[in-house]
Amino acid sequence: MPDLFPSKRIQILLPLPLSGVLDYLSDENLNLREGDFITVPLSGRELQGVVWEMNPESSDVAQEKLKHVIRKSELPPLPNSLMKFVAWVAGYTLSPLGSVLKMALSVPRKFDKPKKQTFYRLATELPEKITPARKRVIDAAISDMPMSVKSWCDIAAVGEGVIRGMIKAGFLIAQEVSGEQAFIKPDRDLKRAILSQDQQKAADHIITQQRSEKYKATLLEGVTGSGKTEVYFEAIAEALKNDAAQVLVLVPEISLTAQWLERFKDRFGAEPVIWHSEMSPAQRRRAWWATIRGEARVIVGARSALFLPLQNLKLVIVDEEHSQTFKQDEGVMYNGRDMAVVRAMQAQCPVILASATPSLETMINAQSGKYDWLYLGERHGPAELPEMSVIDLREHKMKTGSWISDPLYRALRENYENGEQSLLYLNRRGYAPLTLCRACGHRMECPHCSAWLVEHNKFDRLECHHCGFNMKKPHACPNCEKEDSLVAVGPGVERVAEELARLFPDARFAIMSSDEIDSPEALKNIIKRIEKHEVDFIVGTQIVTKGYHFPMLTLVGVIDADLGMSGADPRAAERTWQQLEQVAGRAGRAEHAGRVFFQSYQPDHPVLKALVSGDKDLFLEQEAASREAQNLPPFGKLASLILSGRDKNNVIMIARNLARCAPQGKNITILGPVPAPLSFLRGNYRYRFLIKADHDVNIQNEISRWLAKNTKKHGVKIQVDIDPYSFY
Ligand code: ADP
Ligand code: ZN
Repeated sequence: MPDLFPSKRIQILLPLPLSGVLDYLSDENLNLREGDFITVPLSGRELQGVVWEMNPESSDVAQEKLKHVIRKSELPPLPNSLMKFVAWVAGYTLSPLGSVLKMALSVPRKFDKPKKQTFYRLATELPEKITPARKRVIDAAISDMPMSVKSWCDIAAVGEGVIRGMIKAGFLIAQEVSGEQAFIKPDRDLKRAILSQDQQKAADHIITQQRSEKYKATLLEGVTGSGKTEVYFEAIAEALKNDAAQVLVLVPEISLTAQWLERFKDRFGAEPVIWHSEMSPAQRRRAWWATIRGEARVIVGARSALFLPLQNLKLVIVDEEHSQTFKQDEGVMYNGRDMAVVRAMQAQCPVILASATPSLETMINAQSGKYDWLYLGERHGPAELPEMSVIDLREHKMKTGSWISDPLYRALRENYENGEQSLLYLNRRGYAPLTLCRACGHRMECPHCSAWLVEHNKFDRLECHHCGFNMKKPHACPNCEKEDSLVAVGPGVERVAEELARLFPDARFAIMSSDEIDSPEALKNIIKRIEKHEVDFIVGTQIVTKGYHFPMLTLVGVIDADLGMSGADPRAAERTWQQLEQVAGRAGRAEHAGRVFFQSYQPDHPVLKALVSGDKDLFLEQEAASREAQNLPPFGKLASLILSGRDKNNVIMIARNLARCAPQGKNITILGPVPAPLSFLRGNYRYRFLIKADHDVNIQNEISRWLAKNTKKHGVKIQVDIDPYSFY
C-alpha cells in the first residue's frame, strides 16, 4: 500500500536520563518543527518528548524499524534558545541530555488542555451607591480582566460572600474561559523611585546596554542598602517598554524573599510570576504555560527558573550572585549563576550580577574588563554603614555553657534599654552540635552517616543534618548505659536563645532558622513581628543574611566568627567573609546607626581584618593571589568525582581501577582517591578524586575519556561535579 503521507526520519529527545536522541518517523501532515512537543511509542508505552532534530545525519537504525510519532501537542514549541541551552548545560556538566531536558519540562500534565473555567469581570454599568466592601472590589479591578472568585477575594481582600453577592446582583459578569487565569501585567510606570545620582548613573548604564539588544554581563556591586534593587527595578521597567519582553530574576532562595515580592508589587502593581521547587503542581503549570506562551513578563525564581521556556528573554538578573545556593549539588550539578550568564549569552541580552559581596570569580571578571562594573558606595538616605569591632575571646573568657562575652552582653543590654532590636548570628541549627557521654566519652553519631547527631531542644530529639535520621534523646548512654550522663556540647541557635532568655527574662525573642521557618507563611509572620517591633532579640542562622531590611535593628553580634574559616573548601575564607559582611549589613539600615561585634579567637584573621577595616579589596587580592598560586578557580579548573556505594570494597575497587587509568600530563593533576570528608552518607561509602587542570585544558573531555575506560560499575555510583562548591 502506498503511503498516503510520506514520512521522514527525525530525532526526538525524551526527558529521561538518556544521553542520546532517538530516531522516529514523522508523517508530513503533522507539520513538525524543531522544538515541537510530541508523543511517541516506546516499549509499549506512550511518552512525551521534544523534536530535537528535523534533518538528522545518517543513523544505524534501518528506516523500516522506526516507529511513527503519534501526535503533536498544541503547545508552542520549546524555544530554540532553550534547546541550545539544554545542550550546552549537558555538555558542560557531563550530564545526560535527557536529564537536562527533564529540568525544562518539570511540570506535571503540561500537555493537557487547560480546563474550561468560569471567571468574572466587572460590569460596565455600576450603581453610584454601594457598600464599602463592594467599593473595594470595584477599586481593585484591573480594567476588564476576568478573574476567578478566589482571585477577586485576594485582590480586594474581601470574603467570598461579598463576591458571590455581587455576582448575584449582576455587578460581576460570568465569562467562560479556556485556560489558566492570566497573570496581571506589571505596570512599568506605577511608582518610580527618585534615584540618587550614583544610582541613576548605574541605571542609565544598564538601560543603554538593554537598548543595544546584545549580550553583556555587568557586575552591580554596592554596599548593603545602597539601592541595588532599586537600580535593577529601573532596568526591568526599561525592558517592559517592549510589549513582548520577558525578564528573568534569579534569587538565592525564593521562599525567603517575601520582602522582595512586596517591594516588587509596590513598584509595579502586580506580583511577578514565581518559580521554585515548593510550588504546587497547579501553580507550576500556570507559571510554565504563561512562560511558554510569552504571557509571563517578569519571572522571579530559584536557579531552576533558568530552564523555563522563555520566548523572548531580554534581561537576566542574578541577585546576591555570590550565594552558594545557586549551585545544585545533586542530579545535574550546575551553578545557576554561571549558567545565567550562558543563558543571557545565547539569548543575546544583558545579564546583571548584583551583590554587596561579589564572588571572587565575578570580581576577577570585572577587573579584567570581561564584565562591566558598576559600584554603589553609599547607603541610601541617612543610613550609615555600621561600625564593626572584634571581641577577642582569648581576653574576654566566657563561663562554661555561656556563649555571650561580657562586652557583647553590655552592648546588648544598652541596645535593649534603648528600645532597639539586636540580632545574634550563629550558623548552626538546633541546640547543640554534639551530644557526648560524660562517663565514657561516647559521641552520639548517625547510624547512616559519618556525622554527629545534632540536639534539637524543641522536641527533645537528636537529628542528623545530612540524612534526616532522628531519634528521641536517650536517658542513658547507649554505650556504657549510665543514666543521665549525656551532655550537650557547643552551641546552636536554640542554646544561644536560651542564654539570652536567662540574661533578659522580660525580653521578646524570635529564632530564625529553617526549623522555625518551614513555610513562606511562617517567614511572613516572623518578618511582620520584627517589623512591628514585637521582638527585641533575633537569633538566626544564615537565613538572616538574605537581604532583609529591618529599620529598628541596630546591633548584630556574631557568636562565633571563626566558624567555617577552615576546612577543605578552597572558598572557606571567602564564604565566611561574605556571610559575615551580609549579616553585618542587617545593622543600622535606617536612621539609627548600627554596631557589629564579632566574637573570635583569631582576631587577626584576614577575614576579620577586612571586615573591621572595610578594606575588602586587600582581602580579595590576597585570596586571589593564594588561589592563583594553587592554580584553583577561577585561575585553574577544578572538578570532583565522588564514588559512592553500599559495598565499601566495591567502592575501593572502582576507585583503584579509576586511579590506574587516570589522565596524566603536566597540565592536569589528579588528587586521590581518598575517603571523602563525609566518608559515609545515607548508608553509602564515599571516595573522592579531585581533578585540577590548567585553564586551557578541556576538563570535560579528559573526564569523559577517563570514565569511558571504566565500564564496570559494580553498583558504584560515580558523580562528576564540575566547579564543585561542596567538599564534604
Ligand atoms: P540593596 O539592594 O543594595 O541592599 P535596596 O535596594 O534594598 O539596597 O535599598 C535599601 C533601602 O533603601 C530600601 O528600603 C529601599 O527602598 C531604599 N532605597 C534605596 N534607594 C532608594 C531611592 N532611590 N529612593 C527611595 N528609597 C530607596
Ligand atoms: Zn545521617
